[in-house]
Amino acid sequence: MKGLEAFAREAFPPARKVSLQSLTTWRIGGDAMCLDIGSAQAASDAIGRLDAEGIDWFVLGRGSNILAADGGYAGMLLAPGAGLAGVAWSLEDGMHRALAGCAARLPSLAGSACTRGAGGLLFAAGIPGSVGGAVCMNAGAYGSSISEVLSDVEAVGPGGSVSRLSAGDCRFGYRSSAFQGGGCLVTSARFRLPPGEAQALRREAADILRRRRSSFPLDLPSAGSVFRRAEGFDPPGMLIEKAGLKGTRVGGARVSEVHANFFVNDGGATSSDMASLIRIVRDGVERRFGVRLEEEIVYLGFDGGGTDDKAHR
Ligand SMILES: Cc1cc2nc3c(=O)[nH]c(=O)nc-3n(C[C@H](O)[C@H](O)[C@H](O)COP(=O)(O)OP(=O)(O)OC[C@H]3O[C@@H](n4cnc5c(N)ncnc54)[C@H](O)[C@@H]3O)c2cc1C
Repeated sequence: MKGLEAFAREAFPPARKVSLQSLTTWRIGGDAMCLDIGSAQAASDAIGRLDAEGIDWFVLGRGSNILAADGGYAGMLLAPGAGLAGVAWSLEDGMHRALAGCAARLPSLAGSACTRGAGGLLFAAGIPGSVGGAVCMNAGAYGSSISEVLSDVEAVGPGGSVSRLSAGDCRFGYRSSAFQGGGCLVTSARFRLPPGEAQALRREAADILRRRRSSFPLDLPSAGSVFRRAEGFDPPGMLIEKAGLKGTRVGGARVSEVHANFFVNDGGATSSDMASLIRIVRDGVERRFGVRLEEEIVYLGFDGGGTDDKAHR
């Protein structure tokens, strides 16, 4: 970290040291160097330089799907900011088009879509991520996901190369995309949304928010669903509950009583508390039902300590 810190201060004077505890919704994690990214050009310059120096980097959206290690992250965080948070709306052939910067907040995008009478984004009401994070995770709810309304994205890849990818090129699957595993920063995304009736859309969005408030433990820090659904099995929350693991605790980390696929930070949870809880629950479900659940959350800064193939050192 010291070596990187010195390099970062020289090569990227605006880079700053940040606490991942304050930048993730789980409120867990140590320090890292962070560079705010305000434009596609800035992303391209930074990634070109970092790749040339062989320095690991990781794109941080709103930190709502990340378990960050207490030891922090030894590479450079790239944090898209206000310059990439704009949304431009237009109408084409009766369809609403939105060009959204990657740092735009997903709930705000969903809210403006309703107000304009643009459908297709109701599922996004209440998902506390950024547009870039939602594209990377193929975020979704209630049977819909972002890939269904996405036309294309602009992304900065290895060496700082900029490309435009159609939704078909993004290899979307259930909560997965070509962007997982790193190596690309999605700078903007274009959506194609069917027309709808603004008042009805707003009412449906309010219903969804009410439903979310009664189904999820939104009063405590979490990262949403910890595990993905496994095909052919009940949803993870149900498997965890049936395995008798609701309420299981390790230090300050606890399986929520409200929704068993949400693990909450009860105050003072460390990343190793949370990672141990994830292992205990995964093993318990596997023993009981013979299915090994896969994490939806992304590990950052774990030295192979999370699920090895997903850990960013
Ligand atoms: C209370 C709560 C409820 C939630 N409910 C849902 C839900 O209903 N459905 C759902 O799908 N998710 C849900 N989530 C999880 C989370 O909000 C989503 O996965 C969200 O899309 C993550 O966006 P983010 O900006 O926070 O990304 P982050 O958590 O910051 O990052 C997640 C991944 O995306 C990558 N990433 C972020 N930005 C970019 C970018 N610009 N370019 C390339 N890669 C990028 C990161 O590198 C990382 O790999 C919930 C989370 C919480 C805390």
